[in-house]
Amino acid sequence: MSEALFDFLNELAKRTSGALRTDEYSRILYSTDASIYQVKPHAVLLPQTVDDVQAAVELAAKHRVPLLPRTGGSSLAGQAVNRALVMDFTRHLDQVLEVNQEEMWVRVQPGIVLDALNIYLRQHGLLFGPDPASSNRAAMGGIVSNNSTGSHSIMYGMTADHVLEMELLLADGTLTRFGPLESAALLQQTQKSGLEGDIYRQMHALTQDAANQETIRSGTPRHWRRCGGYNLDRLVPVTNGRPTYRWPYDERFNLAKMVCGAEGGLGVITELKLNLVPLPKKTALAIVHFNSLPEALTAVPPHA
Ligand SMILES: Cc1cc2nc3c(=O)[nH]c(=O)nc-3n(C[C@H](O)[C@H](O)[C@H](O)COP(=O)(O)OP(=O)(O)OC[C@H]3O[C@@H](n4cnc5c(N)ncnc54)[C@H](O)[C@@H]3O)c2cc1C
Repeated sequence: MSEALFDFLNELAKRTSGALRTDEYSRILYSTDASIYQVKPHAVLLPQTVDDVQAAVELAAKHRVPLLPRTGGSSLAGQAVNRALVMDFTRHLDQVLEVNQEEMWVRVQPGIVLDALNIYLRQHGLLFGPDPASSNRAAMGGIVSNNSTGSHSIMYGMTADHVLEMELLLADGTLTRFGPLESAALLQQTQKSGLEGDIYRQMHALTQDAANQETIRSGTPRHWRRCGGYNLDRLVPVTNGRPTYRWPYDERFNLAKMVCGAEGGLGVITELKLNLVPLPKKTALAIVHFNSLPEALTAVPPHA
C-alpha cells in the first residue's frame, strides 16, 4: 500500500460514520460487477450520510486516490470496478425523500433500487418510466450514471429525459446542485468563484460558441436511444425543432443532463429529483410472429 493510500484511509476512518472495509473478503466481494472484468478495489466505504461521502471526496482529492461510486453493480462494461475506494450507496443512502403527486416528481437518494422506488410510488399512481431489465438490483445512482432505459423506451425515453435536478459533489468536495436555470440565474452561476464557477463559465462558453454548437449537433448520432459520451447535445439550442433525444425539449441550461451517462466521472451524486409518469391503468404483452429476420427488420419504421 502506498503512503498516500495509507494516509487517505487513516484520515477517512477518523472522519466517516460509515463502515470502511479494507479486509480481503470485502475487497474481493466488490471486485466484480456484471461485466467480464475483475479488479480488486483499495477499500470499500458504506457511507451512512452525505457528510461521509463528502469526507471521502475531499480526502481523495487531497491524497490523489481514485474514487468509484457504486450502486447495484450490474454494469456490463466494467463501470463498477476499479483500483479505487468503492463507495456503495445501496446500504444506507437509499431513501425516498419527498414526492410531489401534483407536479409528478420525487426526490431520492442514489442507493434506492428502481423496483423498490416504483413499488413505493404505486400508492401515488406514479411511476419512474425508464425500466432497465435489471430493475430489481439496479439503483438510481447507477441508472442515472449509465443513462439507462429498457423495453418501454419508446414510451418513456432515456433516464436523462427524466432527471430534473441533482445534488452532487464535485472533484474538490464542493457540494452543489445542478438543475434547470433561466438566463439570469445562469449568469449568476458563472460569476461564482471556485470549481463550481469555473464549470459554469467553461460549459457556458463552450456551448454558446456557434461553431461548437454546430459540431455538437452534427457529431451527435441522430438516434435518441444511446448512452455513449457526454450529453452535450442537451446543452445547445435545438434547431429545426428536432432535438437529438426523445423527450420534450426544455431549453433551460441544465448541467444535470450532462452528468447523466457520465458513469460517475463528473461528480458523485448524493440526491436526485426525478420526473414521474402516470402509472398505466392496464398493461399487456403482444407477441408478433415473423417468418424471417429480414421481414421482422423491415417492419421497423426508419427514423431518418
Ligand atoms: C441482466 C441484466 C440486464 C440489464 N438490462 C439493462 C437494460 O435493459 N437497460 C440498460 O440500460 N441497462 C441494462 N443493464 C445494465 C445495468 O443493469 C444498468 O446500466 C443499470 O442501470 C446499472 O445500475 P446499477 O445500480 O447496477 O449501477 P452500477 O453498475 O453500480 O454503476 C453504474 C455506474 O454508475 C456510477 N454510479 C453509481 N452510483 C453513483 C453515484 N452516486 N454518483 C455518481 N455515479 C454513480 C458508477 O460509478 C458506474 O459508473 C442490464 C444488466 C444486467 C446484468
